[in-house]
Amino acid sequence: MRLSICYLYASGMNVYGDRGNVLTLVQRCRWRGIDVEVTERGIGERTPLDAFDLFVAGGGQDRDQVAVSRDLQGETGNWLRKAVENDAVLLAICGTYQLLGRYFQPANGERLPGIAMFDAWTEAGPRRFIGDVIVRVPIDDREVDLVGFENHSGRTFLGPEGRPMGRTIVGAGNNGEDGYEGARYRNAFGCYLHGPLLPKNPDFADYLIRLGLRHRHGEGVSLAPLDDHVEDSARAAMIERIRRRGRVKSGAI
Ligand code: GLN
Repeated sequence: MRLSICYLYASGMNVYGDRGNVLTLVQRCRWRGIDVEVTERGIGERTPLDAFDLFVAGGGQDRDQVAVSRDLQGETGNWLRKAVENDAVLLAICGTYQLLGRYFQPANGERLPGIAMFDAWTEAGPRRFIGDVIVRVPIDDREVDLVGFENHSGRTFLGPEGRPMGRTIVGAGNNGEDGYEGARYRNAFGCYLHGPLLPKNPDFADYLIRLGLRHRHGEGVSLAPLDDHVEDSARAAMIERIRRRGRVKSGAI
């Protein structure tokens, strides 16, 4: 099997080790003998994006988002919308997630338009949400608790067509108010989980790989299990640390 990954805006949008998401996808494919290829896509490139199965983009500062917002208003935004309509997979973290909604309004500066892939909008708030988070996300017919780290001033709100990626068990999530984290549209996921997200959440990494392989090879794709004891113990250690700080409501996990 083969998986073709496009890594968007790698040089500007890569805070808190977000590049680790790409490394994890690649390594988990290689361990299974899946032929995986990563192409980086920077600002100003215009070539088609219809050959990719999976898109990954990271977070960045407000100033980096200006150029990305502008770029997404052109060919890259059009190609991304088409790819997602054709069931390609997309994972966008924080700064890029915000620009896949309708807009991001920074505290200082002009409103940055997004591409409205998600029915969501983001406005900078008076303080940053910073800390370890746990988010409960549906994966096929199960619910999985993802661990991550958030650091954002933007408050994201979902519109009537918006669907969250998951529910916040610990942390502020999209806006500190409604209990939601992230957004999902078809196979596109946006969220605030840095850390990076995928190395210590192997179930979610495999979910994205499975969806990506289905995009290329059709239904019926299944993944050989891997020995995840190191990843699982990293995840368990994070959950324990959060629990010890008393931030988890009893019965929540
Ligand atoms: N500028 C955004 C915010 O602070 C994005 C931050 C990020 O990507 N970490 O809300």
